[in-house]
Amino acid sequence: MEKKPFVTKEQIEEIVKTYPTPFHIYDEKGIRENARALKEAFAWNPGYKEFFAVKATPNPFLINILREYGCGCDCSSLTELMLSHAIGMKGEDIMFSSNDTPANEFVYAEKIGAIINLDDITHIDFLEKTIGYLPKTLSCRYNPGGYFSISNSIMDNPGDAKYGFTTEQMFEGFRILKAKGVENFGIHAFLASNTVTNDYYPTLARTLFELAVKLKKETGAHIAFINLSGGIGTAYRPDQEPNDIRAIGEGVRRVYEEVLVPAGMGDVAIYTELGRFMMAPFGHLVTKAIHEKHTHKEYIGVDACAVNLMRPAMYGAYHHITVLGKENAPCDHMYDVTGSLCENNDKFAIDRMLPEIQRGDYLVIHDTGAHGFSMGYNYNGKLKSAELLLHEDGSVELIRRAETPKDYFATFDCFDIYNKMDWEAV
Ligand SMILES: *Cc1c(COP(=O)(O)O)cnc(C)c1O
Repeated sequence: MEKKPFVTKEQIEEIVKTYPTPFHIYDEKGIRENARALKEAFAWNPGYKEFFAVKATPNPFLINILREYGCGCDCSSLTELMLSHAIGMKGEDIMFSSNDTPANEFVYAEKIGAIINLDDITHIDFLEKTIGYLPKTLSCRYNPGGYFSISNSIMDNPGDAKYGFTTEQMFEGFRILKAKGVENFGIHAFLASNTVTNDYYPTLARTLFELAVKLKKETGAHIAFINLSGGIGTAYRPDQEPNDIRAIGEGVRRVYEEVLVPAGMGDVAIYTELGRFMMAPFGHLVTKAIHEKHTHKEYIGVDACAVNLMRPAMYGAYHHITVLGKENAPCDHMYDVTGSLCENNDKFAIDRMLPEIQRGDYLVIHDTGAHGFSMGYNYNGKLKSAELLLHEDGSVELIRRAETPKDYFATFDCFDIYNKMDWEAV
């Protein structure tokens, strides 16, 4: 599918008068349409709830939009819990799906009433000792091991993943929890990441639903919800077909009718913890070409770097690039598009065919709305960008300011060096 930006050159030229590049910009219209479609796709399940994976895009303005469509938050750290609590999410709207969890994070999660999803059988004891009791509702994360396949193709390798209980541990864990007075159980699994197929959720659902039936039968546990977690991906490449959330919801419904309903479990709520699917396509990293370099290869240097978007440097991920104003020009130039970090992997694209780029051109790097800004770091002392929201009426709102050197040096503020900084330089 052709990948078109949701902003034009004219819009960006106007926006940069107030907010200089680089920045991430999010499309409110796209976010809303997608959230509505998700809600409709699972409307057949009365208890359905999406807990947005906060780590994907931890911005309260964006999370508040999702909330209008009934979404809660999925957190896996103290600060994600704090953010969710601060915007007024109630306990049952917060899922705490963490791993290797520090004691203080369990304490805080319980204090704000979040639903705790345990990553390991030893955490039963750890949680009980940490907070002094076990909550009435608890969830356990499942990892069947081996490979996760759909038809004959391997989607991912859970056997190599650090998360979750084994099958035997699920049965043992449920027995222990039930004996200790837990009343409502959840089952969670995240077995493949960034899937671009409508079959992932239905296939996962079958595994979890069949497990749920056995767990109920053998342990007597009341299974209140099954959490399909994240993993519905984004068509980052133009030749990929985006997921069809209606087909996915319908696929899960069929398995639900086939496996859960005949077992007398037609009251189980379906939960999801989508991050990428909710936001990735609705974010652009907008950056300006500031240098061109002709050496052993042709380079375009831009004013963003891996600090703003780490996925290409970290996993060689493909992000489509559009040169604004040159949407219809022939892609007859091959470039490496680079940032300024002193790391040769700081490249947004390698050997990419693009229209001829001049200094001053604006480039849109697509699908940065999830795991984009949030993965950012501060290597080379580079600062994180602003985040902007493009409203449906075309107006633009600043939803996070850019970092300043003061932010970068803030952790030195109790030392003398802080007072010796040349603040005039900024
Ligand atoms: C990362 C994560 C998600 C979201 O994954 P996406 O691929 O962004 O959908 C959901 N749940 C947990 C526990 C995660 O770690």
